[in-house]
Amino acid sequence: MEFKKEIKNIQVYKAGKPIEEVKRKFGIKYVYKLASNENPFVPYYIKDAINKELKNINRYPETDCFYLKDIISKKLKVSKDQIVIGNGSDEIIVLTLRAYIEKGDEVIVAYPTFLIYEIQAKIHQASVKRVPLKNFRYSLSDMAKNITKKTKIIFIANPDNPTGTYLTHNEVEDFLNKIPKDIIVFFDEAYYEFVPSDFPRSLEFLKNRKNIIISRTFSKAYALAGLRVGYAITTKEIANILNLVREPFNVNRFAQVAAISALRNDKFLKNTVSYVLKEKEYLYSEFSKLKISFIKSATNFILVDFKRDTERLYNYLLKRGIIIRPMNSWGLNNFFRITIGKHKENKIFVKYFREYINKEEEKT
Ligand code: PMP
Repeated sequence: MEFKKEIKNIQVYKAGKPIEEVKRKFGIKYVYKLASNENPFVPYYIKDAINKELKNINRYPETDCFYLKDIISKKLKVSKDQIVIGNGSDEIIVLTLRAYIEKGDEVIVAYPTFLIYEIQAKIHQASVKRVPLKNFRYSLSDMAKNITKKTKIIFIANPDNPTGTYLTHNEVEDFLNKIPKDIIVFFDEAYYEFVPSDFPRSLEFLKNRKNIIISRTFSKAYALAGLRVGYAITTKEIANILNLVREPFNVNRFAQVAAISALRNDKFLKNTVSYVLKEKEYLYSEFSKLKISFIKSATNFILVDFKRDTERLYNYLLKRGIIIRPMNSWGLNNFFRITIGKHKENKIFVKYFREYINKEEEKT
């Protein structure tokens, strides 16, 4: 059976290895996953909300996520009609492409960046223009130069994954003032909760431009990756369109109530953010001691320039129960990405990383 020819040439997304798989394969009890930018802490405070919802799981969830939209809208001071809830923020990306792309339309992405934009754009028959990063940052001026009459959507991961770098408010504002207003600019703010103070106040951009979509997620700082829930803030018009192409019941009951609990619990979020900042400094300093280069990050992960093969390092660490992410799929062959874990996990990583480097040096 023939399938869509666009699918033949896409690069399949390779996710970070799951803990369960590594335990099974190597027969080890403790596995530390530092590969998918998750929160290392379990938000046990959502237990009551989950237990309470158990009695309803024979029923479909509310397709409109009424209560979750309500709390987001109050928190961000936007109208409920401007919010779309997704099965993770990944789904917001897919809905945008599904609603707006017709065969041959152009989508601009950076390279390398979060891979889902390009993979999904291709599946939706867009022609994708890659704009190389400059010094590990998005080059908005180069992106602007690549705009043509066919450009429909520009994806901007801010902060970026896998580099962890970010664009400031002024940089983004300048860019928006220069480009045609009919292009959709999609700001993916999956790591929003970790960013510094000169980060764009992106909701302000919605006041002057119609075609802005901002996506955020509960998967990272809010620690709900296993439940899959994210959202878009946009104009009422775009929200309407995205809702038209959304599957009914796309966000399950546990995800909805957990996300509501998460937004009510500032303490967990604050603790996570300060913990991550502290541990990031710890890892920076350990890398510096080992004379290993890295890119300063505005997120909960660090891109490391190992300057030599990372697959061997990855396998060495994997056998010892530590999962990191080699960056070959992103075209960054001698780089790896590490998610900030608990202090104990970071320390164990440093121990075996140092051991690996020392062994390498002995050999040469
Ligand atoms: N955007 C970026 C930049 C990401 O790094 C991720 C997660 N890896 C996502 C979106 C998707 O997150 P989720 O679907 O879990 O909300």
